[in-house]
Amino acid sequence: MKEYAKEFYKSAAWKRARQQVITRANGLCERCRARGIYKPGYIVHHKEYITPGNIGNADITLNLDNLEYVCEDCHNKEHKAAHTPKRYEFDENGNLLPPKENSKADHTPRPVNFGRGKRTEGVTSKKLCKVAHI
Ligand SMILES: [Zn+2]
Ligand SMILES: [Zn+2]
Repeated sequence: MKEYAKEFYKSAAWKRARQQVITRANGLCERCRARGIYKPGYIVHHKEYITPGNIGNADITLNLDNLEYVCEDCHNKEHKAAHTPKRYEFDENGNLLPPKENSKADHTPRPVNFGRGKRTEGVTSKKLCKVAHI
């Protein structure tokens, strides 16, 4: 349970609303029942999810029209569908982009490494010069 919602879920108003929803559903999952399946409910779900922004809005948090009694399966399905993170990204041509970590290494042109980095660059190019003039 989200931290900001703890107080809400402890409130008498919520417990009353929750009980009304369960009574309305006769203790059965409302989603399964709509498909003709009689299965006990598990949790009272907010159709419009509770957020820190609407937690104080009783029209959402305590509105029986915004509440439904669902079984565990239906509840998991609901939340997985809404929260599945994007795993892939595509460029504007619809090509699958490689994961970000790898893409940098793959596409950075490899600098030709003459020396041991910037500190010795001057020395290195002088040496190169000499080599070139020999
Ligand atoms: Zn169900
Ligand atoms: Zn839910």
